[in-house]
Amino acid sequence: MKSATDLAAMVRDSRQSAQEALQEHLQVIDAQENDIHAFNAIDREVAMETAASIDEMVASGRDPGPLAGVPVALKDNLCTRALVTTCSSKILEGWEPPYDATVVERLRSAGAVIVGKTNLDEFAMGSSTEHSAFGPTRNPHDLTRVPGGSSGGSAAAVAAGFTPIALGSDTGGSIRQPASLCGVVGVKPTYGLVSRYGLIAFASSFDQIGPFANDVRDAALVLETIGGHDVRDSTSIPAPMPNLSKALDRGVEGMRVGIVSELLEGIDNDVTARLHEAAAALSEGGAIVEPVSVPAVEYGLTAYYLIAPAEASSNLARYDGVRYGMRSEGQDVAAMNAATRRDGFGDEVVARIMLGTFALSAGYYDAYYGKAQKVRTLTRKDFDAAYAKHDILLSPTSPSVAFEFGERSDPMNMYRCDTCTIPSNLVGDPAMSVPFGTGQHGLPVGIQVMAPQLEEQRMFQVAAFIESQQPARNES
Ligand code: GLN
Repeated sequence: MKSATDLAAMVRDSRQSAQEALQEHLQVIDAQENDIHAFNAIDREVAMETAASIDEMVASGRDPGPLAGVPVALKDNLCTRALVTTCSSKILEGWEPPYDATVVERLRSAGAVIVGKTNLDEFAMGSSTEHSAFGPTRNPHDLTRVPGGSSGGSAAAVAAGFTPIALGSDTGGSIRQPASLCGVVGVKPTYGLVSRYGLIAFASSFDQIGPFANDVRDAALVLETIGGHDVRDSTSIPAPMPNLSKALDRGVEGMRVGIVSELLEGIDNDVTARLHEAAAALSEGGAIVEPVSVPAVEYGLTAYYLIAPAEASSNLARYDGVRYGMRSEGQDVAAMNAATRRDGFGDEVVARIMLGTFALSAGYYDAYYGKAQKVRTLTRKDFDAAYAKHDILLSPTSPSVAFEFGERSDPMNMYRCDTCTIPSNLVGDPAMSVPFGTGQHGLPVGIQVMAPQLEEQRMFQVAAFIESQQPARNES
């Protein structure tokens, strides 16, 4: 399959039609979607209409844009006008938003063809896509294993060749971890770089939208398209979107790279081995690679699993059976609200709402929520100290390669998947996962590249270098 960059170039010069490109991808979907279940919904008719309109634009001499004719899959927590948006929850089953998210608008105006909505852990809470109300997604590299989560459907769609690019959301790692487990590139931008308008909120002080792609260049192209200021999101940064593509071939000569020591604890040996090989390749390329300590990251998981549920408990209060989705009947309004929430939310979502409500309740607020916010401040300070001496920080993305269904049914075991990814969400810094060889069972391993806020250009530069240095021998 062609990259998004190449496909768009071919469509723009009429070397391939958008309709043919779409047909090719739909054939791959038809052959494998029954096994993988990447999608909650596929809208062939609208996709074919869009592709036809792109071809008409090209025929009449107009430029459809940098993503001309590129099929795209969207995580099913991004609002799409007249196309069901469920968050993989029964409570939103069948809900059609009245508007498009900003990122969806921007993709459409760049010429992309939206194919469908991808599966996720309900309300993006999870690391395996096993918590979807509509059944799990399977990892295209091994159907007995999870694709990661919560954006597992988007990661699997790109890995399986269903669409060259996809969007996901990352609150604690939900783009980077599934990217790592599925062997694709996944990017969490700086908090505020991409508009969250039309992203269904989970934990608003963490949530960011970002791309999945097969290579770093395609990921850069998508982020350039969706990023940049939007007046409809008050947290959107009023700064121009940096040009990422132009930095990709610059190499890493003189780049100061820190390997975060605390994020090497509890990591499987096969993953650690790939990280050390990536570090060696960077040194070889002229970077100065050293270990660095960011002590507060040890408390990241604990702080996140208080603050994120606290914010979720507030954000999810709006599902009351009145305004959105399903309703279960009750004797009065309060009983109807309670019945709807009892029937509509899955166990993991209920657990998070209870945890968050507890953490925010009078008498416990300072001990839990307040303390977790202090960890957030400390984490910022520790990252600032590390970035005073290093341009880029490196770690594994996930502690292990893709695991089997049911293997992490104990919640604490599942939450540990997020150890390396959560710190960047706590501080709002950009981070991305780039595939680097394979580990146990021949499954993909991802390296996490982290950068200071708004230094996406530097992050992409290092990620592109790592991508170009794939290990010759892939072993465990
Ligand atoms: N796995 C984390 C959680 O369950 C992160 C989810 C996300 O980034 N949306 O909360």
